[in-house]
Amino acid sequence: MTPYELRCRECGKSWGNQARSICDDCFSPLEVFYDYDAVRRQFTRERITSRAPNLWRYAELLPLPPGFQPSLPAGFTPLLSAPRLANRLGAKRLWLKNDAVCLPTLSFKDRVVAVALAQARSFGFDTVACSSTGNLANAVAAQAVRNGFKAWIFTPSDLEPAKILGTQVFGAKLVPIAGNYDQVNRLCSQIADEYRWGFVNVNLRPYYAEGSKTVGFEIAEQLGWRLPDNVVVPMAGGSLITKIKKAFEELIDLGLVEPRPVKIFGAQATGCSPIATAVKAGHEDIEPQKPATVARSLAIGNPADGPYAIKTIRTSGGWAEDVCDGEIVDSIRLLAATEGVFCETAGGVTVGCARKLYGQGRIPVDETTVLCITGNGLKTTDVLSGTFEAAEPIRPKLAEFEAFLERAHETSTPLEEIMEV
Ligand SMILES: *Cc1c(COP(=O)(O)O)cnc(C)c1O
Ligand SMILES: [Zn+2]
Repeated sequence: MTPYELRCRECGKSWGNQARSICDDCFSPLEVFYDYDAVRRQFTRERITSRAPNLWRYAELLPLPPGFQPSLPAGFTPLLSAPRLANRLGAKRLWLKNDAVCLPTLSFKDRVVAVALAQARSFGFDTVACSSTGNLANAVAAQAVRNGFKAWIFTPSDLEPAKILGTQVFGAKLVPIAGNYDQVNRLCSQIADEYRWGFVNVNLRPYYAEGSKTVGFEIAEQLGWRLPDNVVVPMAGGSLITKIKKAFEELIDLGLVEPRPVKIFGAQATGCSPIATAVKAGHEDIEPQKPATVARSLAIGNPADGPYAIKTIRTSGGWAEDVCDGEIVDSIRLLAATEGVFCETAGGVTVGCARKLYGQGRIPVDETTVLCITGNGLKTTDVLSGTFEAAEPIRPKLAEFEAFLERAHETSTPLEEIMEV
């Protein structure tokens, strides 16, 4: 017997443990439920902190089959204080949860894949697969290698080159689709019905999604077992944001942190903002959009967890914002130039939306606020192409350097340029 099982989020029907994401009775999504009384005795601060610094230290609140042996130390990324960025935003007590350096593939998707593959093995799959906007592709491809699975990856064909290469290098079979993510995902649902493959974000989705809770567990532990007042979370399918809330609630229920209301803020790109649009309009349901944004990793026009993300934001007292492509690029540069963190487009979305939310007074400046930086800038360098002038090379002569220095003083620094915007 495992101390967890799938249940329908709406009708509550129990589905045991199997590769399934939807309740056949009411067509609602399934969710992993735990035997919290069993967890309570084992899951203590002392027990957790005595374990290695990776996401497996929260094993009791993850769906891990009996006897599971992790193959990779994913997660436990740094929580960085961000005083210089805070200063620029007129804020204080600002933190970055830096999953730009999550292992093994430099995005928070390494967390969800680590947990999904644990379950894929116990269900007897020899092939794992996913529909992806890029980062999930990288994470599945890399972790399949370490866990001895074959991997099939389905993506829109127009992904960033680094994300395509960062999938192929692991030997995964990449299927580029002439279509957007929502079309890719629909195809994957059909394939999952025909082939006995473990699609991490389709038939294994409830298990996959639990991996996102570890972002919330780590934020609380790294703040000294305290919850922040606000978190700003980028949204694609809307799963991460709901799972950060679930993580905080579980920690409160198990007595690991003091109860505290955390306002949860969602961030999207204006060119694909179905969740932010619904929040702003006061709607409970999503109106699907056709994505058109440089933030490819967030370009999901019909988010699977959209209604739950809306509810999470609204009931927490948070809000949602969106930023245009220009603001995304400026925000990538702002974060890099203030805090030395190079994030991908999704991080630009988070920082840009945080800037707006502070400006609107929706995030009070003196409260503790965490920005979730979910991916690495080296994967989306194409959005910065043309941003910086390549200087003419000089000969290796001191006089030429001195002339170069003279010219350099006359041009403004990158940070000044961005802050003028
Ligand atoms: C997938 C992804 C997200 C959002 O994840 P959801 O759980 O689908 O909302 C955020 N940031 C990055 C970099 C991602 O790849
Ligand atoms: Zn149901």
